[in-house]
Amino acid sequence: MNLREALVTAIEFVREHGHHDARLQQAVKVLARKAERMREKAEARNATIEIDANAPTVLPRSMVITDYRGLYCRVCNRKKTECTAFCFECFYTLKPATRKALRLSFGEGFEQAYEIALAELDKQPVIFLEARPA
Ligand SMILES: [Zn+2]
Repeated sequence: MNLREALVTAIEFVREHGHHDARLQQAVKVLARKAERMREKAEARNATIEIDANAPTVLPRSMVITDYRGLYCRVCNRKKTECTAFCFECFYTLKPATRKALRLSFGEGFEQAYEIALAELDKQPVIFLEARPA
């Protein structure tokens, strides 16, 4: 029985037997909250952000490469592994969709993803996302 089935069963039970049992009411509430959180997490895991690899960026490419190769996280100055965008802590503060975008290669959206991540971590500069003329 998965969480959803458990919830449905509990709701049916409440309908049949009334909902005067406080513990039962509490259990249903807890289940409902848990189901909602699971749904949100699944949604976040599957989310992706669309990256335009041609969008102009604030940081020059050379600076993004220097950050990427460097030993210090631009956001918090903690040590990081070479050839990663951020330190472990900052990286896992990002939304799953942003972390996913950081897997893009240089010239294929990494620079833009890096700026989106910086903005998400509340560090300027923010990506320049103005719509370009078609
Ligand atoms: Zn950091």
